[in-house]
Amino acid sequence: MKFLEEPSILSQGVYFQAVTNIKLLDDAIIRSNEPEEVLTFSYQSPLNNRFIIPWRKVKGKLRRLVMEKQRGMGIMKNCHLKDDLCMQCPSCFLFGGTGETSSAKVSYNILSRVLGETSISATKVAEIQPYTANAVDEVNLTTGQALMTVVTVPKETEFLGVVTLRDPTLEMVTILTNNLERLTRLGASTREWGRVRTKILGYKISDREDLSAYDLVQNNNIISDLDKFSSLDLPDVESCYRKLDEKVKKLLKESKLIK
Ligand SMILES: [Zn+2]
Repeated sequence: MKFLEEPSILSQGVYFQAVTNIKLLDDAIIRSNEPEEVLTFSYQSPLNNRFIIPWRKVKGKLRRLVMEKQRGMGIMKNCHLKDDLCMQCPSCFLFGGTGETSSAKVSYNILSRVLGETSISATKVAEIQPYTANAVDEVNLTTGQALMTVVTVPKETEFLGVVTLRDPTLEMVTILTNNLERLTRLGASTREWGRVRTKILGYKISDREDLSAYDLVQNNNIISDLDKFSSLDLPDVESCYRKLDEKVKKLLKESKLIK
């Protein structure tokens, strides 16, 4: 299977799946009463207890990175989350948006072409030792009654995950993977978080999503069977932003969605 030549509004059933390894460079401190933070999850044997990173956490950061880069290049500089999406730039095309609620006030929606899943730590959590502390109210700085649980994820913990791109063109793959590798921090409360290093371990093009972190952490052979990411020999990323920007606008005009 190959990449699509042109971006498509209707799905063509081609899936590019990149297997990622996110490694913590510092200890990360998790407040487990904040749902967007890394959590632990108890799977059945043989996985048992693992640290996990919910996809929404990675996706939000990834989208910001894509937007920041294209803004720096002068492409749709005013497009920004959450109500001011332009609905016609590379970032909106990749990550989707709702036309009516965006300031672009267009009648169409864009479904996200970037699909992800929970990343799972490659190693078991030997023992989760949460401790509770008094939660401090951030408005009046008084110590409330609510207790929060704090868990430390040790540095060098590695997380395996799969990021899928529906109906990929060469430009879309280049932009997505370039920004995956630029993912050097995660999370809303970044001050609580250390740095991360993100690597792409390999990829697969298929007519379905047939890779998952759940299988990857149980079977190393899946990773060794992947196509080598370096074999893709991707073009310069800036030229890809410009090409995709042109192609998306052309597609939306031809579909009579924008003038
Ligand atoms: Zn946009």
